Amino acid sequence: MADRDGFIWYDGKLVPWREATTHVLTHSLHYGLAVFEGVRAYNTVKGTAIFRLAEHTQRLINSGKIYMMDIPYSKQELMDAQLEVVRANKLESCYLRPIAFYGSEKMGISTRDSKVHVAVAAWPWGAYLGEEGLEKGIRVKTSSYARHHVNVTMPRAKMAGTYPNSILANLEVTREGYDEALLLDTQGFVAEGAGENLFVIKDGKIYEPEIASALTGITRDSVIRVATEFGLEVQSKRLTRDDIYIADEAFFTGTAAEVTPIRELDNRTIGEGRRGPITEKIQARFFDIVNGRAPEYESWLAFV
Ligand code: PMP
Repeated sequence: MADRDGFIWYDGKLVPWREATTHVLTHSLHYGLAVFEGVRAYNTVKGTAIFRLAEHTQRLINSGKIYMMDIPYSKQELMDAQLEVVRANKLESCYLRPIAFYGSEKMGISTRDSKVHVAVAAWPWGAYLGEEGLEKGIRVKTSSYARHHVNVTMPRAKMAGTYPNSILANLEVTREGYDEALLLDTQGFVAEGAGENLFVIKDGKIYEPEIASALTGITRDSVIRVATEFGLEVQSKRLTRDDIYIADEAFFTGTAAEVTPIRELDNRTIGEGRRGPITEKIQARFFDIVNGRAPEYESWLAFV
């Protein structure tokens, strides 16, 4: 990732991609506290636009607030930086990664006297769980690793140190040939995927796990809006893994994963074992919205 052309916004200015480096004594590298976002820009019918830029930027600021990390830029400056990066790299569609981290000013757990640095990179990134996954659905396995307890890391924050848990879960199941991991909470109820929120459909109703130890996904929020538009209310409740085994349909949502159907969990076929009809309808609407084909959702698009 480091050896390529282009520009990264780094502490207020664009720097050549290869020069956007940090020292090995960077505090966040040692202690894991960095807050970040995953954002996508789509090549819409009206030109390139970042999807839900304001919401992602607000979540970044909120993540900083939760961890008492004062990001030294305003929301507007952070939004402008993201737009600038897409423009500077002449990207039609891309994934964006804003990150705020503590620098190499000091060592030791306390963040006092550390400086917060901010970078924004952007690069082309296709379907995270594969084009085939989007169409045919993916195979998921429940991980033996539990999602963080709500008083261990703060689940409303998108924070780097949360992710070794996702990595362990993902490695565990992908080594056995599954596409993605599902994580349960410390009480054994369904939490979320390694990098996705989950929805299930049963008898025409949509359910999601209670958002306790899961990230409050922005794609999740978009899908809830779309479902409401279709007259389908999304009910949050405690879900067990066997609720998913006997569901008619299930799908993951995420900025990277977009809307990805799940065709199998723990070797049980879900529904017909392919993208279900409600999932397909929601997915199609989602892609219409992000690609600018749904004018009523234009306020979710920040044109570059
Ligand atoms: N849960 C986790 C753990 C994630 O990393 C992500 C991706 N950011 C999500 C859920 C989905 O969130 P969003 O739709 O905002 O990308």
